[in-house]
Amino acid sequence: RIRFDQITKSYGSLRVIDGLSLDIAKGEFISLLGPSGSGKTTLLMILAGFESATGGGVWLDGKRIDHLPPYRRDMGVVFQNYALFPHMTVADNIAFPLQMRGVRKAEIAERVKRALDMVQLGAMSERYPAQLSGGQQQRIALARALVFEPAVVLMDEPLGALDKQLREQMQLDIRKLHMRLGLTVVFVTHDQSEALTMSDRIAVFNKGIIEQIGTPREIYDHPATRFVAEFIGETN
Ligand code: ATP
Repeated sequence: RIRFDQITKSYGSLRVIDGLSLDIAKGEFISLLGPSGSGKTTLLMILAGFESATGGGVWLDGKRIDHLPPYRRDMGVVFQNYALFPHMTVADNIAFPLQMRGVRKAEIAERVKRALDMVQLGAMSERYPAQLSGGQQQRIALARALVFEPAVVLMDEPLGALDKQLREQMQLDIRKLHMRLGLTVVFVTHDQSEALTMSDRIAVFNKGIIEQIGTPREIYDHPATRFVAEFIGETN
């Protein structure tokens, strides 16, 4: 349902994505895994519409989306730096993108409630971000990404700032949410074990290309290149 065809991206003479093609199925949980600087975030930003590719095309459900602005792409985005507004309640934080787009008040209330229920934080709606734990804040950021009920959610190292225990809890939560809502998730991480435990498939990035793509099992048991073997071997 998502198709990248021969994507290239250069900043000046620096080529950060180098003729990359990738198909992602509807409802799939795919991780983009690789070392820092390998192009994972750049590809995600191209999909979200925050960056444009230098060459190639992006399709969603058979339609070319390269020229669509981010808000017309039916995708929710969650970054590591979740940036809730500190002076707004949880409910207002989630309502904000809806207000920006002029959604009616009654509909906003309904959607905020549904989004909070999705992340099981309905009881927290009148709190301020500072009154929440890091994991709860991250779930609010997730609710904000889900408020338009997108078919696709893009996550860029969403758990990077959390401690180990919380991180493992959130991995489970995100995985459950993906199953329950039938979401397509594109998940950027440089953490091998996180990718191995969460994903249906993993695309291993190296210098702007995909070295190998496969199920966690395939990648772990049968690394196709020395780079993949060494990168996956760094687990723990
Ligand atoms: P990380 O895990 O560190 O985020 P990544 O795999 O997501 O790494 P990208 O963020 O996609 O990598 O960056 C790929 C390369 O593109 C890096 O070498 C980076 O320095 C370069 N780059 C990214 N954005 C810009 C920019 N706006 N101008 C110039 N170079 C950039």
